[in-house]
Amino acid sequence: MSVIELEDVIKRYQSGVETVEALKGVDFSADRGEMVTVIGPSGSGKSTMLNMIGLLDTPTEGHVHLDARDVTDFSEDELTEERRTGIGFVFQDFHLLPMLTAVENVELPSMWNTSVDRHDRAVELLRRVGLGDRLDHTPDQLSGGQQQRVAVARSLINEPDILLADEPTGNLDQDTGQTILEELTRLKEDENVAIVAVTHDDQMLDYTDTTVRIVDGVIQEVAQP
Ligand code: ADP
Ligand code: ADP
Repeated sequence: MSVIELEDVIKRYQSGVETVEALKGVDFSADRGEMVTVIGPSGSGKSTMLNMIGLLDTPTEGHVHLDARDVTDFSEDELTEERRTGIGFVFQDFHLLPMLTAVENVELPSMWNTSVDRHDRAVELLRRVGLGDRLDHTPDQLSGGQQQRVAVARSLINEPDILLADEPTGNLDQDTGQTILEELTRLKEDENVAIVAVTHDDQMLDYTDTTVRIVDGVIQEVAQP
């Protein structure tokens, strides 16, 4: 059962008098416990696709299904709520707040959420990514790999269905990138999340369950290694 699905999605941008068709009828799906990696040349529509999957933008035509619900016509407020509860984000440049400690950064997205014990879960997640002894460190006291592990823990605080990773190893050396990919692979199973990643890092494909190649707004190839 797919947790996220794009159905015949077309996305057009208006730039001046010109219309750019960034996605030309894209079908996509990801299951819980699956890592799907999207690859393709620059300008091919990867970010646009990630924005659709992350409910950050809406299609011009076609449908988006989250957990078997059609969310295409949801209002901006409803989409924000779905993003908060259902989707975790990991970025190339970590996006941690510099004045907060590791555990505070992890807790932050759950500030509105009274149904979980935020602090305990934040501590537990940091332990699980090997940072149990770095809880009170600020980002400048952590290495790049450690900062990305904090970001991974943060992305999971609200028990999302989907984790979106935009070049998660892009700012890390090869060995550090590998440890992050190992963490993601383990957490994907433990937390039963779908991971959708965009990358230029070939080593990521070794950890991927499904590779989707997009060229010029069209899915060219779906490979299961
Ligand atoms: P990628 O992530 O693969 O580099 P993008 O999804 O960013 O590709 O872009 C796909 C196409 O859509 C490109 O031609 C890009 O110039 C265009 N595009 C993306 N965002 C916008 C926007 N906000 N306005 C106009 N054109 C855009
Ligand atoms: P790109 O890969 O095109 O350079 P980014 O990696 O900066 O873009 O961001 C990818 C997408 O995620 C963008 O559409 C952006 O609006 C969105 N985004 C950036 N920061 C956040 C955030 N903190 N929470 C949710 N979405 C974000």
